[in-house]
Amino acid sequence: LYVEMLAHARAEMPNECCGLLAGRIEAGGGPSRTVDRRYPLVNEFASATEYSADPKSLIQAHVQCRHDALEFLAIYHSHPTSPPVPSRTDLSRNYWGSEVVHFIISLQGAEPVMRGWRLREDAFDEAKWELIEMSSSDP
Ligand SMILES: [Zn+2]
Repeated sequence: LYVEMLAHARAEMPNECCGLLAGRIEAGGGPSRTVDRRYPLVNEFASATEYSADPKSLIQAHVQCRHDALEFLAIYHSHPTSPPVPSRTDLSRNYWGSEVVHFIISLQGAEPVMRGWRLREDAFDEAKWELIEMSSSDP
């Protein structure tokens, strides 16, 4: 999924890409979330400095997510020429609340860099995440 996200970000260059990640919320010792699926969205602005999910792609993702019986866990988008840090626009257009993690993929440097954030109205906190190996029995 991570490799696909980076490929998506590169494919949309010079514009920003956007997509959703869904998965499971595990009960038990503290909240642990595992991403199982990626739903690429269409950036209706087709812009290098901002994104807006095209409503049709958003509805398709929502329907597919319900069909897969998964929960939306994160949204991702790319910053083609700036660091992987939320912009003022990202904060003002955060309709997802603080539960949903915002991943930002920066393509500014030679290698892509991805960081995760929880956005509040006028501030943001870094979200902890790690890559895990998917077993061959996983979809
Ligand atoms: Zn942004």
